Amino acid sequence: MTETCLFCRIAHGELPVTLIAQNDHAVAFRDIHPQAPVHVLVVPRRHVGSLAEATDGAELGAVLLLAAEVARAEGVAESGYRTVMNTGDDGGQTVHHLHVHVLGGRRLGWPPG
Ligand code: AMP
Ligand code: ZN
Repeated sequence: MTETCLFCRIAHGELPVTLIAQNDHAVAFRDIHPQAPVHVLVVPRRHVGSLAEATDGAELGAVLLLAAEVARAEGVAESGYRTVMNTGDDGGQTVHHLHVHVLGGRRLGWPPG
């Protein structure tokens, strides 16, 4: 746990967000600035700075499986959804704790900006 890390604090219940799903390795909560009708973030409980720093395949797998579970729970598994991991400056990462965005509920454009 990193004291100053926003998503560590959320994952450890120190900030008041509603967890919408969780498993042994990861938790899921709504993005504070939703970019689609469904916009959920899935983060590992343990501090991992980004995908570039990930080393634990079981942990990473649990994050992705929770993202798929969130999509089912949010009712977008059939209509489709997008999972995004922004990594580093050019990737547009602003919170330096690995997270998967689960976006759905509308037709998403491609390619991304
Ligand atoms: P990224 O730009 O990929 O690092 O995504 C960070 C995301 O975290 C953005 O979509 C923000 O809207 C979101 N975010 C920032 N602070 C919070 C918060 N306190 N609760 C939920 N989502 C947040
Ligand atoms: Zn963290």
